[in-house]
Amino acid sequence: MKRTIGFIFILQLICLEANSHSKDEYKVFALRYMYYGYSPAKEWAIGAGEKDSVRVCQMIWLLQGADGRNILVDTGQLDTSKTRKKYYIRPDSLLECINVHPSDITDIILTHPHYDHIGGINLFPKAKVWMQKDDFDYFVGEAWGENGFSKGFKKNDVRNLIEINLQGRLKLVKGDNIEIIPGIKVFIGSKHTFENQYLLVNSNSTTNKILIASDAIWVYYNLENSLPIPIYTFDSIAYAEAMKRMKTLVTDPNLIIPGHDDLVFSKFPKVAEGIVKIGN
Ligand SMILES: [Zn+2]
Repeated sequence: MKRTIGFIFILQLICLEANSHSKDEYKVFALRYMYYGYSPAKEWAIGAGEKDSVRVCQMIWLLQGADGRNILVDTGQLDTSKTRKKYYIRPDSLLECINVHPSDITDIILTHPHYDHIGGINLFPKAKVWMQKDDFDYFVGEAWGENGFSKGFKKNDVRNLIEINLQGRLKLVKGDNIEIIPGIKVFIGSKHTFENQYLLVNSNSTTNKILIASDAIWVYYNLENSLPIPIYTFDSIAYAEAMKRMKTLVTDPNLIIPGHDDLVFSKFPKVAEGIVKIGN
């Protein structure tokens, strides 16, 4: 009898351990909602070779937790009128391809409020929205003043975000290396916008940690050559330093995911058209 009780106790401990572990783990997907094609690398990286080119696109990311959480990292854009796009699918329609409906999205983590990352925010009416406080303050305030930098921002996105705040859905985060949701940490310091953030996610892949840089790295070319972006940056030295730091946060540099590189969609296994699962 004693033996049986002991055995059950050990079994319970094992189950507890397994549960607490898997709760903090996510399946991570990249979803391409717009495709541009080849572009000169010098438009994406300071000091790039004259003849070098990169293949660029727009993407969002989905983190699916074992506890039923569906977290979207950025929301894509709706207005494509002034783009040189070759292909576009609305982010909510893209998510439907893997059976995720707009009301399933529990959280949105905004890496920064450029129109191609925040524009689709109203497609997901139930989600809590997580954003850096200093980025929010600048976006709704100083950016529009005399010495402000509002390029890449749209007034309608400011209005939408204010409304989300009035509805009580906005969660402001302040600082670096903060676990905002179990298994998801955010980091700052790259100064793409006033205080953009990138994420480190516990994944259910054997390689474990996946870093979603979003626009803290535009394309792999930036990371591989340690070259910051030529425009849309508040501090290019900080941008380069942040890329260096990212390499210390993961065990496998292949699991650092840039914001606009189409290579992401040939590097990882495809689960549907324009959607890959990151990791293994
Ligand atoms: Zn951006």
